[in-house]
Amino acid sequence: MLYNNFKDMNLSRLGFGTMRLPVIDGKINEDETIQMIDYAMENGINYFDTAYPYMSSKSEVVVGKALARHQRDSFYLADKFPGHQIADSYYPEKIFEEQLSKCQVEYFDFYLLHNVCETSYDVYTDPKWHIIDYFVEQKRLGRIRNLGFSTHAQIDTLRKFLAEYADIMDMCQIQLNYLDWTLQDAKTKYEIVSEYNLPIWVMEPLRGGKLVNLKDTDKEKLTTLRPNESTVSWAFRWLMGLPNVKVILSGMSNMEQMIDNVSIFAEDKPLTDAERDILMNIAEGMKNGVPCTSCHYCCDSCPMELDIPLLIKQYNDLHFSSSFTPLMLIESMPEEKRPSACLGCGACASNCPQNIDIPNVMSMLAEELSQRPSWAAICKQRAEEAKKAE
Ligand code: SF4
Ligand code: SF4
Repeated sequence: MLYNNFKDMNLSRLGFGTMRLPVIDGKINEDETIQMIDYAMENGINYFDTAYPYMSSKSEVVVGKALARHQRDSFYLADKFPGHQIADSYYPEKIFEEQLSKCQVEYFDFYLLHNVCETSYDVYTDPKWHIIDYFVEQKRLGRIRNLGFSTHAQIDTLRKFLAEYADIMDMCQIQLNYLDWTLQDAKTKYEIVSEYNLPIWVMEPLRGGKLVNLKDTDKEKLTTLRPNESTVSWAFRWLMGLPNVKVILSGMSNMEQMIDNVSIFAEDKPLTDAERDILMNIAEGMKNGVPCTSCHYCCDSCPMELDIPLLIKQYNDLHFSSSFTPLMLIESMPEEKRPSACLGCGACASNCPQNIDIPNVMSMLAEELSQRPSWAAICKQRAEEAKKAE
């Protein structure tokens, strides 16, 4: 296993993300999960990442049960505060105590504010909930060893949060992979976080599986160069080449994935510049959404002052991943700035150098959002499922 130093720790570069654990009869397959965690530990993985809502709030319990069979100082456990979920109350004390108990630990090695983003920013920073102060205090008491945050925020929100809170954060977790490097501004996020000297933890390294099954022609480009390496290993090796990345979290769902990933992280085989260019080329070919370049030429002509490029980006994101980010972001906007507010006047389209039929994209996005459950409804459903599971 390859490791990275962080403070006085030697962290495995591959971390086990536990949001997609194996399932049997609609429940977490505990036996297989325990086998996977044992295999991970035997093969040098020492970083485990869970969160309050993962697996209908059962991930913490099963991970805690599996890890309790190992010495506490032989693994690093990360958990997260669910301020991004829409709820009635966000007082942190009860949830934090519950999490320690569910995970059967006295302290968390890493504790993160879960998804600091447009909808959660005000929750995390509202003095009424004293969330950040509370976790800073828990760190002082040794119940949190390192404090951090994960984020799917847009650039402006990320900058705002870092400007205010970077000095009390130890790390930052972002969605990063060779497709999102440009598609979701992950390059800019990587650079901004690095400017604040915060190390980066990676989530969605394979874009929820999208980078596993490439087109045959793309696969061929890679296997010609490295016949014994899988498309998965290319995605991981690309990330390992980023100097500020400490831990890459993979949400493994079965033993086969665990064994494959462990074998990839057994050896450092850095990509050459030419190989990295090939991946960037493949990523370009995958961006077959609406070809908006974010030039903003359309925006001044919009009577509703819609942020057209931002909305088109959400339209593309909805089609590239199963992420909730577009839902969360659009719901954080006032009604009059959402795609449903588009008048269909067409004033924007004549200014678009890419000849994008903007009114049509706004209409399709509004239609699609109206057919999906809202982020508020998803949070409510999760809370109900968690209650039932108790
Ligand atoms: S069509 Fe919609 S997005 Fe375009 S200018 Fe009119 S209101 Fe704005
Ligand atoms: S003018 Fe066209 S390419 Fe430019 S931001 Fe607007 S939609 Fe995108």
